[in-house]
Amino acid sequence: MTFAELGLRPELVRAVGGAGYTTPTPIQERGIPVALDGRDLIACAQTGTGKTAAFLLPILHRLAGGPPARRPRALVVTPTRELAAQIGEMAELYGAHLRLRSAVVFGGVGLEPQTRRLRRGLDLLVATPGRLLDHLRQGHAHLDRVEAVVLDEADRMLDMGFLPDVRRILGALPEKRQNLFFSATMPDEIEDMIRRTTKDPAMLEVARRATPVGAVSQIVHPVAATGKKDLVAWLLRKPEMGQTLVFTRTKARANQLAKRLDRSGRRVAAIHGNKSQSARTRALAGFRDGRIDTLVATDIAARGLDVDGISHVVNFDLPTVPEDYVHRIGRTGRAGASGHAISLAAPEERPQLAAIERLVGRAIPKEIVPGFAPADAPAAPAAAPRPRSHSSRPGGGHRRRSATGSGRPATRGSRPAAARRRASR
Ligand code: AMP
Repeated sequence: MTFAELGLRPELVRAVGGAGYTTPTPIQERGIPVALDGRDLIACAQTGTGKTAAFLLPILHRLAGGPPARRPRALVVTPTRELAAQIGEMAELYGAHLRLRSAVVFGGVGLEPQTRRLRRGLDLLVATPGRLLDHLRQGHAHLDRVEAVVLDEADRMLDMGFLPDVRRILGALPEKRQNLFFSATMPDEIEDMIRRTTKDPAMLEVARRATPVGAVSQIVHPVAATGKKDLVAWLLRKPEMGQTLVFTRTKARANQLAKRLDRSGRRVAAIHGNKSQSARTRALAGFRDGRIDTLVATDIAARGLDVDGISHVVNFDLPTVPEDYVHRIGRTGRAGASGHAISLAAPEERPQLAAIERLVGRAIPKEIVPGFAPADAPAAPAAAPRPRSHSSRPGGGHRRRSATGSGRPATRGSRPAAARRRASR
């Protein structure tokens, strides 16, 4: 299948060719024809599947067919500033040969330049929910001409507490419109909202729900909570650790860890919600072009981060919501490259680990790094085969734990967990 065969305008086919895409990804192959037909679409797809092009290409195709607009004819709502900016860039890239105008609005920066941009007129608006509502309230944005709306990363919007805002935005749209909804997972609240909003939608699910990208190798290092910083510093000294994205549970922990790693000779930056937009943009640009080799981030800050060439994702803290594990490790192993996910698990994080293993449907191999064993590390079960250690590790002869985690009941990504996590950011 080629992009031309999907029924896209030649200008779009040319643009994706220019971007280096030769064949559509599964979500594109299956989603684009449905969207071009004007049907509603619900897609379970994670970052890294090519979902952005799967919604932008049919949207641009539609927009190119209409008269130039003053008010937006298509709207993309996405949870974070970084995602909004990336989608805006993608829209420019794919629309390079079309005469369309797009604008991106998100919070954390001044309203005024965005307002001026909105006044100049546009075909496509990409927005985060809160800032879009601000512009709507002040009469700078008008959604009465919107023919197609995309909700990107709907589950993340739920996590971030944006669902009421999203409902308000949907309520401000014309009744007759096309809905394209994308979510990595389908929590009940999202499914409810989607079912109420869409008409006879096509349902697509690429890859199994919340299953990590196959190209990513995964390992867990059991370690005492107090030993985590030293272990990460030790891991990062290995030559194979290239561009590395490190996740922490909270902003404070991201800052502390970044400071510690800075002293260990890595070129480190931290991104999280407390950083100014310009600091985040600078850190991301540095990470993209290699001036920074270690980016420490919280889940929300790293959401949708689209950087090729991340060799390793390190979970300094395990996520409290298991789905985040999948989002995190999807940052590596992009575009056919191999990727590695390393998770540090303190004894008190065993319930989270068990929940993650339930979600991904398998046990993740455990390996204690010599010198970093948690105090309560049980001896490997006598009956279990003990694989030999890698010869590259100092000391050698370390043990592997049984692969099944604690056996405690798994905690699903429940509301309290999501609420707790929000509160800590
Ligand atoms: P996404 O899932 O939208 O975040 O896209 C992940 C990455 O895949 C982005 O860097 C895109 O530029 C890239 N991409 C999207 N579609 C294709 C394609 N058909 N062929 C190659 N790369 C693609």
